[in-house]
Amino acid sequence: MSVAPTTGTFGVALGDHFAREFAELAIPWQAEAAPDPRLLMLNDRLATELGLDPAWLRSGDGLALLVGAVVPEEATPVAQGYAGHQFGGFVPRLGDGRALLLGELTDVDGRTRDLHLKGSGRTPFARGGDGLAVVGPMLREYVISSAMEALGIPTTRSLAVIATGREVWRETQLPGALLVRVASSHLRVGSFQYAAQISQANGDLDLLRRLAEHAIVRHYPEAAGADNPYLALFDAVLAAQASLVARWMLVGFIHGVMNTDNMTISGETIDYGPCAFMDGYDPGTVFSSIDRDGRYAYRNQPAAAQWNLARFAESLLPLLDDDAERAVAMATESLRTFPEQYQHAWSTGMRAKIGLPADGIDDVSAVLIDDLLALLAQSRVDYTSFFRQLAHAARGDAEPARRLFLDLAAFDEWTLRWRALNPAADLMDRVNPVYIPRNHLVEEALAAATAGDLTPLQQLLPVLSAPYDERPGLQRYAEPPPDDFTDYRTFCGT
Ligand code: AMP
Ligand code: MG
Repeated sequence: MSVAPTTGTFGVALGDHFAREFAELAIPWQAEAAPDPRLLMLNDRLATELGLDPAWLRSGDGLALLVGAVVPEEATPVAQGYAGHQFGGFVPRLGDGRALLLGELTDVDGRTRDLHLKGSGRTPFARGGDGLAVVGPMLREYVISSAMEALGIPTTRSLAVIATGREVWRETQLPGALLVRVASSHLRVGSFQYAAQISQANGDLDLLRRLAEHAIVRHYPEAAGADNPYLALFDAVLAAQASLVARWMLVGFIHGVMNTDNMTISGETIDYGPCAFMDGYDPGTVFSSIDRDGRYAYRNQPAAAQWNLARFAESLLPLLDDDAERAVAMATESLRTFPEQYQHAWSTGMRAKIGLPADGIDDVSAVLIDDLLALLAQSRVDYTSFFRQLAHAARGDAEPARRLFLDLAAFDEWTLRWRALNPAADLMDRVNPVYIPRNHLVEEALAAATAGDLTPLQQLLPVLSAPYDERPGLQRYAEPPPDDFTDYRTFCGT
């Protein structure tokens, strides 16, 4: 790919590759002016990775770039078009209603990264929306994406959150904000669904083929050498998503709105709306207020990912083979491998969580894991803290873990079987986080931030940045929610 950014205003080199190459999917657009921008959060480490000077980003010029008020001359900010299945229903035209791709940056390792604004004003894709975002949800994306990154889970990143100085009307008036997001790209399953429609209407495959080739070059260059590069692209996305969703499941992350427009081609987690981490273990957990049927409940996430991949495959069919039946057969065969790939990633991860080595997923450990999850569900044991307590049990002190269960005899029996396999406590502590963005702590920090006090958030972020290292004085951040914190609900489209 010839991303050839030029150094424009400010010395920031911002490419316009996507805007130039995919005019059908990109409407040149400008951010709405922020009346009184104020930097709330800046990720210095990410800025440095991008070759941007954090001190400069904090300056007036830097802030002007971060809110999209001034962009390098050569850049072409665009609203990207995409379609999507939302809760199973197809919406042919979604797109960036309140977001803009500012352009592509080359990071210090030479990788191409998208620089993107969310909450930057209405675009032609806005439909009924106001194009805006508010402080709480943008800081929420900042915190949770930072936590995911620290957990080692592929994710889009948050570079900055800026209060715009504009009041935004939600259920009440709230302070407006804008998130500056960085991603390896913003290609979604929905981008392909959108391109497939255009290609079909045009009666040629040009756009779809170019988009697939772009995705290959940008994310899966090894697919280019395959006999059927488009099938190889599909297989690569499938593998990335199987691994990603397994990682979510292993840490108890619930995305909340796994629509096809919120699933990336890169395999990065995107769109932190109603997402949240599970506290007490219950596979049916749903937090999102709009997910009334539990379509995206914790336990349904692997199936939802596979369903989305089927929609991706449908978009790619005409590229897979000229013969429609053969194309369907290829896609079907690939899709069938999803459960096994997911299961492999998940079981390997689960074995590590209970201190067993990765090799040889034997029946004994599979039964052991199933039995453990049944016990956790029965007693609604706090999912995150349990595995750290279990490491103590591996070291000889089972009492803290044992206390969490109602059926003590069943736990004792399980522990005997488990200890017979010589679990490695140190391995457990490397994969089981002590600190996750606990819902009650996130809400507390965001409420304070919305009221103008960033202190709790600034205390929370460094805790989450080293999730596997237990440190003194941080007990409060490791604990399950208080008993009166129940029926937690999250919201999206905010
Ligand atoms: P999401 O639920 O964030 O994935 O968004 C789904 C779609 O709604 C996307 O096309 C968004 O751009 C659009 N959208 C969400 N909120 C707004 C808003 N406040 N104004 C305009 N469009 C929005
Ligand atoms: Mg979205």
